[in-house]
Amino acid sequence: MKIALFTPGPGNTSDDVRGALNCDIGTRTPQMTELTKHLRKQISEVADCGDDFSVVPLQGSGTFAVEAMLTSLLPIHSPCLILVNGSYGERMVEICQIHALPHHVLRSHPLKPINVAEVADYLKSHLDITALALIHSETGIGIINPLEELLTLAEQRGLRVFVDGMSSFGLLPGKFASASLSAVAASSNKVLHGIPGLGFVIARREILEEPGTTRTLSLDLKAQYQGFQRDGMWRFTPPVQVIAALSHAIDDYHQQGGQAARLQAYQQRARIVVDGLAPLGIHPLVTGNDSAPAIITFVLPFDEQVLSASLLSERLLASQVAIYPSKMGEINSFRIGFIGELTENDIYRLIAAIRDVVCEISGHLEQPA
Ligand SMILES: *Cc1c(COP(=O)(O)O)cnc(C)c1O
Repeated sequence: MKIALFTPGPGNTSDDVRGALNCDIGTRTPQMTELTKHLRKQISEVADCGDDFSVVPLQGSGTFAVEAMLTSLLPIHSPCLILVNGSYGERMVEICQIHALPHHVLRSHPLKPINVAEVADYLKSHLDITALALIHSETGIGIINPLEELLTLAEQRGLRVFVDGMSSFGLLPGKFASASLSAVAASSNKVLHGIPGLGFVIARREILEEPGTTRTLSLDLKAQYQGFQRDGMWRFTPPVQVIAALSHAIDDYHQQGGQAARLQAYQQRARIVVDGLAPLGIHPLVTGNDSAPAIITFVLPFDEQVLSASLLSERLLASQVAIYPSKMGEINSFRIGFIGELTENDIYRLIAAIRDVVCEISGHLEQPA
């Protein structure tokens, strides 16, 4: 039996996508240039971003793309405001600290979406801020942040907005029509169901073409963009097979109905899991419209000593099901992700495996001492 990955990604991939890895392509050949050009066009079609934006792919995982976006494109003479309500927001702060990029941080409650009024207030008292950086769908807990409202606020104040769209790209509409949206970073192995190893940033050409400060060689997004504009080639070795597989995965994505269909599929998976775990007393930590479609955090109704989220994850692995403990240290909870090629059977397998562990534990609890 193959493992079913209910993690925040990389998720399960289809046989066809893994089959597309089965190719050798010379990196400095017309075939590679054509494949790269085609993939950039495919991603721009998923984004529906028009010609004002360019897709700049980059070797590495999603964090590489976020780091490249922030270090290459953030304004250098004025601070950005990082909106943090979870672990991936904290990661943006770490990036800005390491590279000594001027920034402010506005932290808010991890179980709540970013509050637009609070951001507006903060901006009123910090007029030097010229950009916002935020996570669209915070994967730490599974919260959707109000991107559209934040873009409207940014438009009113003439701010640039930089978005980590890792677990929302391809799943939620991208808002590229906003004049304030400057760049979105995402990767091959989340909602698009590709193989890990490729990040990309969809950035406004105008900003990619501004002169800037070079802070890193390999993560320099402007140099990467110039390279593709110049001769269509990669500056450094591209993950050839990963690119071929992502191109295939995007074809499948469209064939399966694109954004709306993928959102519906994840929502359907989530419904089955929520309904299946409820009789066990296991419920989502966040509900309603704030809850992200790609991942849900569930609270375990047991003391950590009796059944911790890490013990549960460990036990589930024996049934070929993978989940992750949550990133909410003080709450005994775990995350179930809906990313990847999962069947309804996988989902029922997950529920049954959790039920088995919980029943075994409850059985022990009921025995007289
Ligand atoms: C997955 C993810 C990332 C990237 O993580 P990597 O491990 O570098 O791929 C960044 N932000 C969010 C919101 C994510 O879900």
